[in-house]
Amino acid sequence: MLNFCLPISPSGRTRKLLMPQAARSSHDSSLKIYFRLLRYLRPFIGLFLVSLFGYVIFASAQPMLAVILKYFVDGLNAPAGVGQQEFPLIGRVELMYGVPILTLIIIAWQGLGSFLGNYYLARVSLGLIDDLRRALFDGLLKLPNRYFDQNNSGHLISRITYNVTMVTGAATDAIKIVIREGLTVVFLFGYLLWMNWKLTLVIVGVLPIIGFTVNNASRRFRKQARKIQAAMGDLTHIASETIQSYRVVRSFGGEDYEAERFRKASAENTVKQLRMVKTSSTFTPLLQFITFSSMSVILFLVLFLRGDASAGELVAYITTAGMLPKPIRQLSEVSATIQRGLAGAESIFSQLDEQPENNQGTVERERIIGRLEVRNLNFTYPDTEQPVLQNINFIAEPGQMVALVGRSGSGKSTLANLIPRFYHHEQGQILLDGVDVQDYTLRNLRQHIALVTQQVSLFNDTIANNIAYGDLASLPRQHIEQAANAANAAEFIERLAQGYDTLIGENGIMLSGGQRQRLAIARAILKDAPLLILDEATSALDTESERHIQVELENMTSNRTTLVIAHRLSTIERADLILVMDQGRIVERGTHSELLPLNGYYTRLHAMKFAEADDEDVVPESSSTV
Ligand code: ATP
Ligand code: MG
Repeated sequence: MLNFCLPISPSGRTRKLLMPQAARSSHDSSLKIYFRLLRYLRPFIGLFLVSLFGYVIFASAQPMLAVILKYFVDGLNAPAGVGQQEFPLIGRVELMYGVPILTLIIIAWQGLGSFLGNYYLARVSLGLIDDLRRALFDGLLKLPNRYFDQNNSGHLISRITYNVTMVTGAATDAIKIVIREGLTVVFLFGYLLWMNWKLTLVIVGVLPIIGFTVNNASRRFRKQARKIQAAMGDLTHIASETIQSYRVVRSFGGEDYEAERFRKASAENTVKQLRMVKTSSTFTPLLQFITFSSMSVILFLVLFLRGDASAGELVAYITTAGMLPKPIRQLSEVSATIQRGLAGAESIFSQLDEQPENNQGTVERERIIGRLEVRNLNFTYPDTEQPVLQNINFIAEPGQMVALVGRSGSGKSTLANLIPRFYHHEQGQILLDGVDVQDYTLRNLRQHIALVTQQVSLFNDTIANNIAYGDLASLPRQHIEQAANAANAAEFIERLAQGYDTLIGENGIMLSGGQRQRLAIARAILKDAPLLILDEATSALDTESERHIQVELENMTSNRTTLVIAHRLSTIERADLILVMDQGRIVERGTHSELLPLNGYYTRLHAMKFAEADDEDVVPESSSTV
């Protein structure tokens, strides 16, 4: 009986031999997904059993209601209409009282079962969702940068929100229906067999037809559910992109384009949802037709073979048989929910199975002195052809400042990103205090590096919490203020009404570009790491702020190695070593005074910057530094 309420599991075994390879593997994989999902249920097995018990109670009440009818109808037929009768549970009672009392008892019994079943199953499934959601999010924190480059954020987000909800559907609704309605069918069926097994076998004849129809449709549901998921991710993606970039959209007149793009994705989503509804709405009446055809046969047979059964018994039989189609129909519909849940679970598991960041290193150092050596480094981004870094060699002694300059796209940020191992390099070595960065544990390695990235990331939190983020969160306010001061941010922060407790909005939307950069620098200064990497960290600052920060950095750099990527020459000129990069190679190296007379890349770059600086800055000192 239960065979067709779980169409994924039992039917596969018989068909396996006949199925082509592709179909077989998808079938096997859905079984695997199903069992993997069930494994998550293991910690909740106690609650699950309580809920199961509740559903047994609930289902057992169904045929009891038919029994009541038998007493009622037979009572009506009795000459006096009333009289003493032998009842189950309550013994010999007047029919007039027995029937209603027994009805109340049965309904209370059913209510108890319903509560136990629903409440405890909800605890199980919500717990399961919580586990899955957290596993996904925790996994996300450990995935390599490559994964974020290759998957769009809309899909990642909708996996955590939407897909997990679909799994809730599978976990709660499906299990509930499978167990509750499945048991109901079993009880009703048992009662029917007990009353008249010959008639009942007729019903059994119809079941394979229903089972076949269910199996057929469930496969189509799964396929469509997967498509709908993709369409949902597209919607989230387009919406979030437009929301985040609303300024660009408006200033470049992208409204029509975005509206059209969203309209298409939304329409596609509607079409797919509709198709799914269409399948289910043709499927349901079809199934109903089949079940009621079998009902008609039963009615005929009941009338034809009534024999010496009492009117009460016949009514009870027909009522019980009439109760069967509803749970059967619900069972048949559940396959769609299960398929939807499986499709959701499939993509959840595929993310959970992603390899986390490579973290094989074992070296942990309390504090390093900050000697950075890069040897024969070559790098190509995963899944691309073009090498981005080729044969990079240099040494930054502790306390030195090394500057990377070069045209846009020459690989400067890439080099900076390889040091904290945001990407994995195959060829060459990056040594920190003589130890290959691959040999450090990731966490320890990153503790030694303070990085200000080219794109500043801030959180929708207070200024103080943005500066003292992560490991720094426990530092006292005084340190935060010192760091802000060194980053030339203290002045603007103190002018804000709430000072360090000001909320700065999503990604610091309420701050200017230069203010955001200064917060990012303050965060890096507060970290007080032996290796400081500044990737265009002062690009949005005026010369005066930059100078201030530079002085502060110089005060601090005595015990700190700094790798600075900058267009602004004032930052670079003081560097102990300037590396000029072009198309992934170091084409010139030396100090400012060594490079300038060479009349090469650096000289040209310098001449161009001189012209730019002259245009940009009205402040006379900016050009005087060049
Ligand atoms: P800019 O001065 O504009 O910041 P850059 O020197 O920092 O430029 P990189 O960001 O290192 O340049 O990029 C170097 C090259 O690597 C570019 O050609 C870019 O297309 C490519 N690239 C950068 N990031 C990725 C990535 N995540 N995946 C694939 N290719 C990338
Ligand atoms: Mg860059």
